[in-house]
Amino acid sequence: MKAAVIESVGRAVVTEVPDPTPGPREVVVEVAACGLCGTDLHILQGEFAPKLPIVPGHEFAGDVVGVGAQVTEVSVGDRVAVDPSLYCYECRYCRTGHNNLCERWAAIGVTTAGGAARYAVAPVANCVRLPEHVRTEDAALVEPLSCAVRGYDVLQSRLGAHVLIYGSGTMGLMMLELAKRTGAASVDVVDLNPARLETARRLGVSASAASADELDRPQGWDVVVDATGNAAAIQDGLDRVAKAGTFLQFGVADYATRVTIDPYRIYNQEITITGSMAVLHSFERAAELFANGVLDPEVFISDRIPLERYPEALEQFASGLGRKIVVVP
Ligand SMILES: [Zn+2]
Ligand SMILES: [Zn+2]
Repeated sequence: MKAAVIESVGRAVVTEVPDPTPGPREVVVEVAACGLCGTDLHILQGEFAPKLPIVPGHEFAGDVVGVGAQVTEVSVGDRVAVDPSLYCYECRYCRTGHNNLCERWAAIGVTTAGGAARYAVAPVANCVRLPEHVRTEDAALVEPLSCAVRGYDVLQSRLGAHVLIYGSGTMGLMMLELAKRTGAASVDVVDLNPARLETARRLGVSASAASADELDRPQGWDVVVDATGNAAAIQDGLDRVAKAGTFLQFGVADYATRVTIDPYRIYNQEITITGSMAVLHSFERAAELFANGVLDPEVFISDRIPLERYPEALEQFASGLGRKIVVVP
């Protein structure tokens, strides 16, 4: 079958690889669409994935075309979105409910072959069946949405919160959509990229600007979300948290990124700084929210690019053009 392969650091190609075969409790999915994300760039840069080569792609949905001998829950012809998380269920973190912090954390498209291919294999336990009205190719958005839902789980945001989001790429926009639906009193968005900010405005924001300086809220925001991973944005955001507020590190920073904190203010103003990593018990709920129209795929998916052009798609993503880019096998 045809698949994208990150062969070595900085080198992605599209090539022929053997068709996958399912284990007893696995299914084979014919991929309808696979989203690109920052994680794929990190893998290309030699981070995250323990070993190369790897078929990337952890955001995908498709048709079940093969099932293992012990699979009864889904059948050939079902359409599914796939949770890429592979937990060991044995380590201390798994046994205390923190599976996304698993000591042997693994994921489809990060540590095992992923969905940037014609076919991908997934444990049946990772598959969520799609309802009739959801288009298979749109359901590649369920995985990033499940990360945003996890972010909201961490925040335990109260009704009436004033929310500030840094970054209006796909993840920032998903946090925006969730914030609007979870009773925020206001949701403001900051982004240096005017085109991206325009999309945020289209979706509906309370205020938006290139810098939080332009937003009139001297007392700060109850919830500040970084969806950029950028040091300058994170540093700025930390200083904008209101008393008793929470800063959520949601964007993926480079390993070497450093910012400074103000311990006295954290103490004196009871500020919480926290993070959320990937998916935790949130995929099923994201699929349900998605089926209920929490986000408009036509807005969120900006480019549908043939799998053959995976390296170009990655380049386009890296350049910051567009929103969610999906490859279509
Ligand atoms: Zn992702
Ligand atoms: Zn574990």
